[in-house]
Amino acid sequence: MIRFACDYCERPLEVPDELSGTSKKCPACSKESQVPVLADLSKAAPQNHLKLWLIVVAALLLVAGVFITMQLTGKNETASDSSNSSSTNSASK
Ligand SMILES: [Zn+2]
Repeated sequence: MIRFACDYCERPLEVPDELSGTSKKCPACSKESQVPVLADLSKAAPQNHLKLWLIVVAALLLVAGVFITMQLTGKNETASDSSNSSSTNSASK
């Protein structure tokens, strides 16, 4: 159902979705009111949501990838640190 206000008396009106973009005769003032077109909006909205979700997921994957790479790099640094200490040990030998 599409809910909108009468153009003339602002009385709340309800019409089926199929009548979007047509005119509806107001029962209060008996004048033809323009029914707002909601079908295009409802069709376009899910696509925008999908695109938004794709962008969000891609951004999250990017952030996760950078985070994992940083963690791996940090582990490598600690590993090189331990190897440095071991090399110092081997040097002291
Ligand atoms: Zn009216």
